[in-house]
Amino acid sequence: MVDQNKVKEAVKLFLEGIGEDPTREGLLETPERIARMCMEIFSGMEEDAREHLAKTFSVANNEIVVEKDIVFYSACEHHLLPFYGKAHIAYVPNGKVVGLSKLARTVEVYAKRPQIQEQMTSQIADAIMEHLEPQGVMVMVEAEHMCMTMRGVKKPGSKTITMAKRGCFEENMQLQNDFFRMVQG
Ligand code: ZN
Repeated sequence: MVDQNKVKEAVKLFLEGIGEDPTREGLLETPERIARMCMEIFSGMEEDAREHLAKTFSVANNEIVVEKDIVFYSACEHHLLPFYGKAHIAYVPNGKVVGLSKLARTVEVYAKRPQIQEQMTSQIADAIMEHLEPQGVMVMVEAEHMCMTMRGVKKPGSKTITMAKRGCFEENMQLQNDFFRMVQG
């Protein structure tokens, strides 16, 4: 739960720390603004993916389902700078599927908290395995990290790609290839 007062105090102190004057006009409302913004960009901390993945529909045939280009914005937990990009999710059902918007919701749950991309990718895959219980799931995340592009090595446009495979995707190259083909197509 975001404590808005603590965030406000911290931002004031932070501004002083970088040599700014938090009482000057342009910065006066910044702590308040950031505190409100945190309610939105870290809202995933209060959410449980189970809520989004619990409502399922029965299916007769267990064909692969792919949801691609799910845009997300997150904050890297090492620098609290944004990283953002797209998540692609595939799963092979085991008699039940979820509404497609629920996969995007699941991405949001894990994106909207201080995060590292590798961990987020695994968490999405694990949540789907646990709550939807498919035969397998595969998640690919491609993202640009502001901590790479505006500081440090400064490589604008470079992307970090992470992947997680669970269940039937782990050993089945054919399924993996289906996924790559559908994501790239
Ligand atoms: Zn970082």
